[in-house]
Amino acid sequence: MPELPEVESVRRLLVGAVLNRPILEVHCGAQQLRRALDPDRLRTELVGARFAAVDREAKYLLMRLEGRDGAVLVHLGMTGRLLVVERERPTQPHTHIVVGLEGGVDLRYVDVRRFGFFCWSDTPAAEPSLLKLGLDPLADGFEDRFVLQARSRGVSIKSLLMDQGVIGGVGNIYASEALWRSRVDPRRRAGQLSARRLKSLAEAVRAVLLAAIEGGGSTIKDFVLPDGDSGGFVKLLKVYGHAGEPCVRCGELLRKIRQAGRSTFYCSKCQR
Ligand SMILES: [Zn+2]
Repeated sequence: MPELPEVESVRRLLVGAVLNRPILEVHCGAQQLRRALDPDRLRTELVGARFAAVDREAKYLLMRLEGRDGAVLVHLGMTGRLLVVERERPTQPHTHIVVGLEGGVDLRYVDVRRFGFFCWSDTPAAEPSLLKLGLDPLADGFEDRFVLQARSRGVSIKSLLMDQGVIGGVGNIYASEALWRSRVDPRRRAGQLSARRLKSLAEAVRAVLLAAIEGGGSTIKDFVLPDGDSGGFVKLLKVYGHAGEPCVRCGELLRKIRQAGRSTFYCSKCQR
């Protein structure tokens, strides 16, 4: 599943690839995505316009048009991909939307499992799913706000990190990595940790996400950046997917447990 760093990597690549090119045509497939799409409406809004900005809110992408309040709202779901390719390239299976841009380039939305969507929103600022989002871990002041939210909570710190109402966009891989980096045991109750340790965890969350963005995302599978490259961050993962291997910090064998139905990887010796 694309996590926040992958979505941010996609955003940066889109900024370089689709802005300011006139939109020539829009083709929509017949299959339903997670959110219903009105093909005529999308075509009416887009054809003749240009993308002026691509913003991100947690794992949502907002592709804004010049001089308009509305925007294309995209969520990649489990297997969604946005590809920017030359028009002659054959359309691959599970391509649901093709936006033809001037210069012989297509923006294509591909999604095997169709849990994602690509649709028009008249009022993106009022989208209920965006209003519910928690803190943005890449925004200024994130660390102090996270400490305030976490101090009174009785859930495990791992579950808290993955609660989208607390932090928007930290998924399973980055939660394990940030906990290891800040030496926090994933099973600890959030409210039992000191403010100092919570702050150091928040700093680790941000650092892990930034490192992943630099590496282009973690790309375990099913995810490819618009230019067709897979992300390089997977090589930098210290605990995720490494159960049974020695911790690179202390040598203890890493463990894998289940928490709230998801795998957590951690070191039982140097994470407290
Ligand atoms: Zn260790």
